[in-house]
Amino acid sequence: MGGRGDWGTGRQGGQKEISPSSALSSPSPHPPLSPSPYFPLPNTSPIVAEVSRLLAPKIDQKLQDLPEIGVRKAITLGERLGLYTVRDLLYYFPRDHIDYARQVSIRELQGGETVTIVAKVKSCNCYVSPRNKKLMILDIQLQDNTGKIKVSRFFAGTRFTSRGWQETLKRRYAEGSIIAACGLVKGSKYGLTLDNPELEVLAQPGDPIESLNIGRIVPIYTLSEGVAANVVRQAVIAALPSAAHMKDPLPSGLRQKYDLMELKDAIANIHFPKDSDILKVARRRLVFDEFFYLQLSLLQRQHQARAIQTSAILAPKGELIEQFHKILPFKLTGAQTRVVNDILNDLQKPAPMNRLVQGDVGSGKTVVAVIAIIAAIQSGYQAALMAPTEVLSEQHYRKLVSWFNLLHLPVELLTGSTKAAKRRQIHAQLATGELPLLVGTHALIQDPVIFHRLGLVVIDEQHRFGVQQRARLQQKGEQPHVLTMTATPIPRTLALTIHGDLDVSQIDELPPGRQKIQTTMLTSKERTQAYDLIRREIVQGRQVYVVLPLVEESEKLDLRSAVEEHQKLQESIFPEFSVGLLHGRMSSADKDEAISKFRDRQTQILVSTTVVEVGVDIPNATVMLIENAERFGLSQLHQLRGRVGRGAAQSYCLLMSNSRSPDAEARLKVLEQSQDGFFISEMDMRFRGPGEVLGTRQSGVPDFTLASLVEDEEVLLLARQAAEKVIEIDATLERWYLMKEELKYRYERLMGGSILT
Ligand code: ADP
Ligand code: MG
Repeated sequence: MGGRGDWGTGRQGGQKEISPSSALSSPSPHPPLSPSPYFPLPNTSPIVAEVSRLLAPKIDQKLQDLPEIGVRKAITLGERLGLYTVRDLLYYFPRDHIDYARQVSIRELQGGETVTIVAKVKSCNCYVSPRNKKLMILDIQLQDNTGKIKVSRFFAGTRFTSRGWQETLKRRYAEGSIIAACGLVKGSKYGLTLDNPELEVLAQPGDPIESLNIGRIVPIYTLSEGVAANVVRQAVIAALPSAAHMKDPLPSGLRQKYDLMELKDAIANIHFPKDSDILKVARRRLVFDEFFYLQLSLLQRQHQARAIQTSAILAPKGELIEQFHKILPFKLTGAQTRVVNDILNDLQKPAPMNRLVQGDVGSGKTVVAVIAIIAAIQSGYQAALMAPTEVLSEQHYRKLVSWFNLLHLPVELLTGSTKAAKRRQIHAQLATGELPLLVGTHALIQDPVIFHRLGLVVIDEQHRFGVQQRARLQQKGEQPHVLTMTATPIPRTLALTIHGDLDVSQIDELPPGRQKIQTTMLTSKERTQAYDLIRREIVQGRQVYVVLPLVEESEKLDLRSAVEEHQKLQESIFPEFSVGLLHGRMSSADKDEAISKFRDRQTQILVSTTVVEVGVDIPNATVMLIENAERFGLSQLHQLRGRVGRGAAQSYCLLMSNSRSPDAEARLKVLEQSQDGFFISEMDMRFRGPGEVLGTRQSGVPDFTLASLVEDEEVLLLARQAAEKVIEIDATLERWYLMKEELKYRYERLMGGSILT
């Protein structure tokens, strides 16, 4: 146990209220930070401070009760932006700031700098883009004493293309108004301009200039129709005094250790910072909080799960496992052995295992799972192996049959296409316990399947299943051990965020003798080269996948459908070979047949949609040709590529793309240069964002307000560490009453509930 005194953690529950003056005088890792301009000054007398504390609105006060806001504006803020309480407002962080400190005149503009100019509107034009009906363009001519400049803003989405919005913009930026524009200076064909700048109206024609805003950093909030920037800003200003009296749920020792600004300062400075350095420090603290409370809830869940002591105790050693090692045609890699040990170690404990095995395509996860399964069986328990597609279940089943026959163990396959009689037989054998292992698809959870003694659940390609589906399989037993596997490595930050409550093992080594897959980007012009390579490989007895993004031209995208492609390849390009077809809309019997024919080498080329993405293991295939490669995500391409290079022969991946966008090219280059799934997924996340990396919508990536899994890795790791320490000291959080309350508040929000109801 780490010393509990580290953080000077007094019981917060009975903690007496700290008066603002003493709070401010307590030593802080940061110099007495620039109370932001709207923040009560620190050097007021204790009496004034006390009065201001009493007058400050309470954190859970409704906005309509604040005289500066009033009922009408409060209703608007609630309806349009979901802001109901003082806390809501304080946590409504600006999406950006206008930095008046960097104000320059138009003549001084220089490319590459982020600056603010203050100038008069000479003309304002607003129109729907002639090329994109969903894009509203606002063009403004600005002039100051030194020159003129045109700036444009773009509003994408149909709600911005209405006449009403057009009129609003024209009125807001009327000729003669004084506005501030802040953004990155860049060159265009009309000379220098500001890139999609933040705009702020300082004065309407005739008004005196409102100097209030100038000379500091001003927050820019996400607005909605009918809510003007100043309404939110004034409301925040009205709410800010109560931030000064917020008690920090994080103990001061913890804050010191991780160099975190105090909460009230962070809240004040995220809205109205004095300069950009303080803004950074404030942001860091609030990012920390977003990560910290999430990790706390994940680790708390893990802690609770570990307290269950009723799972099957599965012995790591025994005759069956020994026999299995003997019949295996290869030796486990070092990484496989390590992961097997992790698993066997978990299985002999009475707390349920909840372990995720991550391993790149072809790293050999299946055999690791099989060893766990055999451990369950030799201890007298049953196991279930669930995979997301029939193709994959079928493949696992075949492999298991070949091994289990040698061990004289029965195994059955249950999918949507299993016949009724067979189904009944399987159900009966499961219920008596005669059948030790069932492999299958979702049918495993959909059917009224009852196990006699389910001790272990294995879920392959777990990211393809929803949380509910995984839970339903677990409920088929009494606290069975759970092993999940994924061949889609995800960046560490993302893994911590969505799997923070699991134990994770990595198989970070490929079986020996694998060759690097030669990966090349090609355009249509080089198509004949691709076909030559394919021909050469087939003549040498190899096989080829051709993958297309869509089955039919359902969207008006210039994609060639698998059906057409199949016909073209069979009839015009490779009449001498046999070309198979596999796509998502085929019946499962037809899919099976297409895969079987390819596996048995009756077809040499398999034209397919992404159905082949997951798990298909046909080592004789050496070429993967991907059409319209730019349409896929990097991790998905990496998965597809993993269908080849599974045998000893040199394999090839051809990425066909006519896209000239630099972004597409840069993405595909990553694949040309790397074969490391973790690196690729990291890049994928950078290019497309965390939600997309997971591919499926089950994702469950929380919506962080400020935090970014790409930019804030360092803070996430610290927050994780801090949360681990907290749970280690006291998982109930009783010791930190405020932290517990805050977690509860955030957790309820996370779950979509609201503390208001
Ligand atoms: P994945 O991790 O992608 O699920 P598989 O479990 O399908 O990978 O294994 C890929 C291939 O490598 C299979 O044909 C499997 O039999 C083989 N394999 C697994 N482990 C080893 C090993 N240690 N040595 C040699 N071949 C192995
Ligand atoms: Mg697999």
